[in-house]
Amino acid sequence: MAKDNKVIEVKKDEDISKWYTDLMQKSELADYSDVSGCMVFRPDSYFMWEIIQQATDKKFKEIGLKNAYFPLFIPEKFLAKEEEHVEGFAPEVAWVTQAGDTELSERLAVRPTSETIMYPSYSKWIKSWRDLPLRINQWNNVVRWEFKHPVAFMRTREFLWNEGHTVFATKEEAEAEKDQIIDIYTDILKEYCCLYGVAGKKSEKEKFAGAEYTVSIEMFLPSGKAIQGPDFHHDGQNFAKAFDINFLDKEGKKEFAWQNTFAITTRVLGIMIMTHGDDKGLVLPPKIAPTQVVIIPIFREDSKETVLDECTKIADSLKDLRVFIDDRDSYSPGWKFNQAELKGTPIRIEIGPRDVENNQVVMVRRDKGEKQTVKIEDVKETVLKEIEDLETTLYDNSKKLFEESVVEVKDENELMKVIQDKKMALAPFCNQDDCEDWIKDKTGGATTRNISDKKPKGKCVQCDKDATCMVYVAKAY
Ligand SMILES: [Zn+2]
Repeated sequence: MAKDNKVIEVKKDEDISKWYTDLMQKSELADYSDVSGCMVFRPDSYFMWEIIQQATDKKFKEIGLKNAYFPLFIPEKFLAKEEEHVEGFAPEVAWVTQAGDTELSERLAVRPTSETIMYPSYSKWIKSWRDLPLRINQWNNVVRWEFKHPVAFMRTREFLWNEGHTVFATKEEAEAEKDQIIDIYTDILKEYCCLYGVAGKKSEKEKFAGAEYTVSIEMFLPSGKAIQGPDFHHDGQNFAKAFDINFLDKEGKKEFAWQNTFAITTRVLGIMIMTHGDDKGLVLPPKIAPTQVVIIPIFREDSKETVLDECTKIADSLKDLRVFIDDRDSYSPGWKFNQAELKGTPIRIEIGPRDVENNQVVMVRRDKGEKQTVKIEDVKETVLKEIEDLETTLYDNSKKLFEESVVEVKDENELMKVIQDKKMALAPFCNQDDCEDWIKDKTGGATTRNISDKKPKGKCVQCDKDATCMVYVAKAY
């Protein structure tokens, strides 16, 4: 029997960073690579990304987006065209300067995001109002050479994402896309990752480089830190002017176009893992789990055939789900139980010769860990019910974590206390850069997350001006 049982050595509530790193490796989701800050997506995590990608892609296509693919490299002169944009990304750009022994005449950026390689094409394609809207998405990888400590899925120099880049004739049409996209991302987070987040505008200072405004979905981690999920940017005419994306309107007048961009990244996998996992390992939302039900046979040589036959029958009855019969001879049932827990398989079914005789199985739901005896004819119904209930439980926990972390504050003292307590403040704010800088300095690094739809009341948490909004403030991952 194999003895390489993998146990998470750190408790989640003792040191969540170590717990997370240990879990990533032992559950075989991620691995380090020899390029610092770049990670390996092992098959189980890549499978999960594919699920998110396919589900999002389907929803994108339903609202009329089309996929395309643009080059990985961006000529320097393109990257520099929109001033705020290049300033925002310059410190993190990786450059290609040489091919073989030959130095390139112009260095090429490895895309940190694709606006500046896509929009010269858009400028060529869009001539008249008949060419609009143009709604293109691409699924790709981007590189941002950060120097902060890398964390698998959460912060890596290369990551995977979608980048939507859409163009409209009017501001109204462009802005109408915001709710469509934010609704899609909110659904994906809820349905597939069982994650709760709050959508709202970013402050002037925290918005995307080159955007008129940014709407983000902010979540809260059990480590006491906020984290940004998917986002949407309305770019106004900033890029259209920089890249000459214009068209003749119905009256034959030349107009600049209105643009949006939006993205969901592989970071959502990290948020999901950190939110739901426990001391025994991953706890995976059923829709994303590579294996949804594991059936573990327990037998001696003389009962092997009977037990395995029953396993096959049960698996057949669950054929709409991703079921794995773990009949590997080289591992003990106990090892397999631990493995199923480590890997976060939502439902585990155990069946031995006595169970076959009694026409029953033992079923264990990953988050509860309690054994229940289920009649074989009721297995399918019970599995479906438990899966649904598991989804609700995980989502409710995530929502509770967020809601219980938010504390409304009025002034500096209350703000400081909330940040020290590793919670998230909801503070009255004037949305000006000076006050934003003050918040960051004063709290030792907490930032505004996004603006709540709650009505502002009182003075700004820092200055004498009346608050124009209520903003979430927390230390961020
Ligand atoms: Zn202020």
